[in-house]
Amino acid sequence: SAPTTARPSRLAPPVSALPPVVGADLRVPLVTGGDVPYANLDHAASAPCLEAVRDAVDAVLPWYASVHRGAGLLSQASTRIYENARATVRRFVDAPPDHDVVFTRNTTDAMNLVAAVLPVGTVVVTFDTDHHAALLPWAGRRVRRVRAPRTRGEAVAALEAELSGLVADGDRVAVVLTAASNVTGELWPVAELAEVSRRHGALSVLDAAQWAPHRPVSVSELGVDFLAFSGHKAYAPFGCGALTGPARLLRSAPPYLRGGGASALVESVGADLRVTWAAGVERQEAGTPNVVGAHALAVACETLSGHWRGVAEHEDRLAGALREGVAAVPGVRPLRLFDDATPSVGVVSFGVDGIDPGLLAAALSAEYGIGVRDGAFCAHVATERLLARAGVGGGRAVRVSVGLGATEEHVDRLLAALRAVVASGP
Ligand code: PLP
Repeated sequence: SAPTTARPSRLAPPVSALPPVVGADLRVPLVTGGDVPYANLDHAASAPCLEAVRDAVDAVLPWYASVHRGAGLLSQASTRIYENARATVRRFVDAPPDHDVVFTRNTTDAMNLVAAVLPVGTVVVTFDTDHHAALLPWAGRRVRRVRAPRTRGEAVAALEAELSGLVADGDRVAVVLTAASNVTGELWPVAELAEVSRRHGALSVLDAAQWAPHRPVSVSELGVDFLAFSGHKAYAPFGCGALTGPARLLRSAPPYLRGGGASALVESVGADLRVTWAAGVERQEAGTPNVVGAHALAVACETLSGHWRGVAEHEDRLAGALREGVAAVPGVRPLRLFDDATPSVGVVSFGVDGIDPGLLAAALSAEYGIGVRDGAFCAHVATERLLARAGVGGGRAVRVSVGLGATEEHVDRLLAALRAVVASGP
C-alpha cells in the first residue's frame, strides 16, 4: 500500500519544525587536513541568518526605493514594507499603544538614543556587570553603579536600597536593566526590578539583546519603559535593531541625529536654518532608513514568534548538555553571576586553569572547526569579577553559545575537543 505520511506529534514539534538558518552546510578546513561541517557556537555574538529572512530580503529587493517621500509606486511599496515592519516589531515585543518603535542600527545605537532622549538631569542607575552597551552611553550624566549582587533576590533589594536614597533627593532616575547576561546567559529578575523602579518613580531601560532572540518578551507584562535589541543576534543580518519607548519622551526630545530624513524628520527649515522637527517618532530616525534591514528584522521576529516552543526546547536541550559537559571537564571553571539556581539562555563562559583562552579558542577553530568567542565580551567588569570568583586569573574567558544554527553534534564535538585540548595541557 502507499506509504502514509507520519502524523506530527501534538506534544512536541519535530526538530525539522525549527526554522532553518543559512550556512548550515558550510564546511571548513582543519590544520590537520580535510574539512568538517562548521560548528557555529558563537550565537551570542551574531546569530546566522534565517533562510526565511534571506528569502524575504531577496523578494523585497526589487521594491527597493526611498520611503515616505516620492509618489512613485516603489516608494509607496517601500513605505508600506517599512511601516509593516514597525508594526511587526511592536507585536513581537508587545509594546503598549502609547509606546513607539524606532528602528536603530543595533542595541548600542538604541541605548545611545535613550541617553539622548532622557530628560535633562536624569540620574542613570546601572548594575556594574552589564554589557558596555548598557554601561557606557551615559557620558555627561550622573551615573550610579550598583555592585551586582550574588543572588537575584539581592539584586532586587540592592536596587530598592539605591532608589530609596535617590528619590529622597528628588532626582529624575532611569534604571538600566539587562534581561540575559551575555557572559553567563543567566536571566535577571526583570519584572521585579522594573516594579521597584516604577514604584520609585524611575524609568526602566531594558537591554534585551540576549533575550529577545530566545524567548518571547513583553514590554507590557514586564512593565519596562524602554526596550532595545539587535537584529543580528535575532537571525537577521547586520545593521538593524529596534528601540521601543514611551512616545511622550521619544517625540518630545530633540532628534538624536540631525539632518535630512526620508521619514519627514524635518517639518520645516527656514532660510535662517531654524528647524521645526516632525511631531512623530520619525524625528528619531534621521537619514534614509534601512528599509531592507527593518523588513529582515520583522521577518525574523515573525518567524521566531511562530516557533517559540521549538526554539526553547532546542536551546534548552543543547544548553543543558553544554553546561553539564563543560562543568565536568577537569580544570574548566564555568562562570556564574548568581549563586542561586537561575534560569538561563544558551550561553556558557569559562576559564581554564593554566590555558590561555585565546589559544584554546584558536585550537578549537583550527583543529576542530568550532567557532567560539574568547575575551571579556564587552563586559569587562563582569568577566574579570566572575573569573576571579572562579579562581582563574587573566581577565579573559571562553564563551560558547547556542541557538538555531547549533546542533547536538556541535556540542558533542566541542566537549570532546575541550577535553582533548585541556588534557594536552598549556
Ligand atoms: N547588550 C548585550 C547583553 C549584548 O550581548 C550585546 C552584544 O554583544 C549588546 C548589548 C550590544 O549589541 P550590538 O553590538 O548589536 O549593539
